[in-house]
Amino acid sequence: MDVAEIPAVPEWLPDHLRGEGVESLYPPQAEAVEAGVTRGENLVAAVPTASGKTLVATLAMLASVERGGKALYIVPLRALASEKRGEFEAFEEYGLDVGVSTGNYESEGGWLAGKDIIVATSEKVDSLVRNDAPWLDDLSCVVSDEVHLVDDGERGPTLEVTLAKLRQINPGLQTVALSATIGNADELATWLDASLVDSDWRPIELKKGVHYGDALHLEDGSQKRVAVRNSEDQTAGVVRDTLGEDGSSLVFVNSRNNAEAAARRLASTTADFLDSEERERLAEVASDIREVSDTDTSDDLADAVESGAAFHHAGLARTHRSLVEEAFRDRLVKVVCATPTLAAGVNTPSRRVVVRDWRRYDGTAGGMKPLSVLEVHQMMGRAGRPGRDPYGEAVLTAKSHDELDELFERYVWADPEPVESKLAAEPALRTHILATVASGFARSREGLLDFLEGTLYATQTAERGRLAEVVDRVLTYLERNGFLDREGGELSATDLGHTVSRLYLDPMSAAEILDGLRAAGRESGAGAGAATETDGEPTAEGAFQSASDLRDGTAGGAEPTAGAGAGDAGVDPEEVSALGLYHLVARTPDMYELYLRSGDEEEYSVLAAEREEELLGRPPSEFAAEFEDWLSALKTARLLEDWAGEVDEDTITERYDVGPGDIRGKVETAEWLLGAAESLAGSEGLEVVPAIREARTRVEHGVRAELVDLAGVRGVGRKRARRLFDAGIESRADLRDAEKATVLAALRGRRRTAETVLENAGHRDPSMDGVEPDGSVSLEGIETGDGSGRDANETGEDQSSLGDF
Ligand code: ADP
Repeated sequence: MDVAEIPAVPEWLPDHLRGEGVESLYPPQAEAVEAGVTRGENLVAAVPTASGKTLVATLAMLASVERGGKALYIVPLRALASEKRGEFEAFEEYGLDVGVSTGNYESEGGWLAGKDIIVATSEKVDSLVRNDAPWLDDLSCVVSDEVHLVDDGERGPTLEVTLAKLRQINPGLQTVALSATIGNADELATWLDASLVDSDWRPIELKKGVHYGDALHLEDGSQKRVAVRNSEDQTAGVVRDTLGEDGSSLVFVNSRNNAEAAARRLASTTADFLDSEERERLAEVASDIREVSDTDTSDDLADAVESGAAFHHAGLARTHRSLVEEAFRDRLVKVVCATPTLAAGVNTPSRRVVVRDWRRYDGTAGGMKPLSVLEVHQMMGRAGRPGRDPYGEAVLTAKSHDELDELFERYVWADPEPVESKLAAEPALRTHILATVASGFARSREGLLDFLEGTLYATQTAERGRLAEVVDRVLTYLERNGFLDREGGELSATDLGHTVSRLYLDPMSAAEILDGLRAAGRESGAGAGAATETDGEPTAEGAFQSASDLRDGTAGGAEPTAGAGAGDAGVDPEEVSALGLYHLVARTPDMYELYLRSGDEEEYSVLAAEREEELLGRPPSEFAAEFEDWLSALKTARLLEDWAGEVDEDTITERYDVGPGDIRGKVETAEWLLGAAESLAGSEGLEVVPAIREARTRVEHGVRAELVDLAGVRGVGRKRARRLFDAGIESRADLRDAEKATVLAALRGRRRTAETVLENAGHRDPSMDGVEPDGSVSLEGIETGDGSGRDANETGEDQSSLGDF
């Protein structure tokens, strides 16, 4: 179908598409148009990666806006939100307004009301629904990208419930769902009352295979010699072979560290294939990369890029990522080593894709877990650049003959798994039932069951009884914990229930946090009276059961504690320690666990005994199953305490056997949960609010209390804050009036950094021209090299609070 023949789209579109190199629609796109996607019809498009799904969604959205409507594009990852915004911003020249919303979970995003196309993550949309964003009523088209992720145990239920809610708010809403090729796309179509385009079509042929020894074994039974030299590893051999054919490679690995290490190693392979012009242009890219930030990561990336290799992961600043992608598309960078984020949507095709790691560490499994067929096929789908390569090759690497066979069975010949709703899991239902009642989508048990009929779960299960059973259990839990009221057949959320829903907390986390905070209030008696009344109705302390009590059905209370444990003595609310608060939030289900290694159990039992006074709430018996969770939360709490005590990041990674990404994950989750704890404590009138705030700001910046103010200046971070402080600059106000020579010395002579920092602090004249570092500022005792590998992300969202930048 020629682009001029697409019905119901804006007039300018055909020319715009031609300008982008799109003359006619790919067959699955034409099928979608024939199914009415530009006329407001619901559609599920299940087509392989890189086969033009985005254009299908774009056509639907533009046609919808053309009819006077408003479109919402739901992405599965924050990183993809900015990617997609970038794509849709091209339409602004035709008068469309594009907005992206990924920020915090408590606002209703009123400013989005004026936008024509809005891009947001499913969590963000869920929270907008909870906060009753009025413009949601005006939506005419919703796109769900990567809808097969409804299968994900953690995030799937949110997507599923959010789509069901949007469709309930707005019965005329057009739903367009984009999926990778999966086994049961027809079920998704039934769920969404949609037509189905289910296709294997790809714009370029893909050959899958496994490399073993000196040969590449392809799925059609053929073999190709791809020799590995003694001096190199297997991946390098495959990459070198691709380079020999003037092709580029994308190597998928399972962690950020591995991506960086692989890029460093492969740089020596790519370096041999560069001509002098390429070398020059790469040097320019490298210098742009160094300009972005002055961290080790930035330097490492620039070093690799100079030799024609790069790494790419979600821990990089956005500018870093786009510089790498661009240089790869320009065929300057010859190999990119990436975590699977790149497979999820960034458009970086390459001649060969190497899936080096097919197992990944999985916290919930407590070890390495094989990737799903769907994930591996999505990575493989990035092979082959339409119009450039004759075909694409996607290669797994095997170390033994057995592994060769296994990989063929497991991935090459296998069909992707069918997706399955995970909604019936209790934690998911707990959160979503409370939110559904709080935001008025259901007002009775029957209403709730009717609402849940609109989910994929209901489409997929014949057993209605099972859902009703879990729903009843969850309702009892929510009622007993004071989140819901049930009068006659009527369900309503209490004030507390509304707060918890808006804070986006798992109700069980809220129950655990309140339980612990109230224990803190008990000793002094202060606040306890106020704390136990909600809506004028006494929720007697004894009746307030901690999460674990309810889970075990021992509603009367936990067993008395043996050995380590604070008992129920309570802590003076003003004396509550950061460790106590970190431990409290670390034991909620919203914080994923750190596993106890051998020896840890003893170490943390001792620590629990030593610091029992600080721990909030009643510890489980040493013999109870939850005791291990209690200790593992203590391990997380001590990690956070170290972080907020300015312990070096490398030391933390070693001490807890975690990666920098894990620290970041913990810190961000703790920040969010402590913020929520602060709101809960505030609305319950508890006196621990100031203590929580201090613990939160310290963990946010990774500093002791005296540095919080300084570290809050953009561009400063924990290490620079300490150096400035030691040079006598103790606050933001000091920084504004500081001697520039002192600042420059404390920032180790980095002029650009010093200027940015002064500018951000509000200094009248931040220029460092002609300023020399003050030689009397001692940098003794300060470690050099920050080792943190953290970058500033310009949006300041991702990890700007973590590490030095
Ligand atoms: P997917 O979303 O399926 O992974 P994309 O939408 O990113 O795939 O499309 C991959 C690439 O194909 C993009 O660069 C896009 O511009 C290009 N493309 C899409 N449709 C067409 C078409 N009909 N003709 C030419 N190129 C197209």
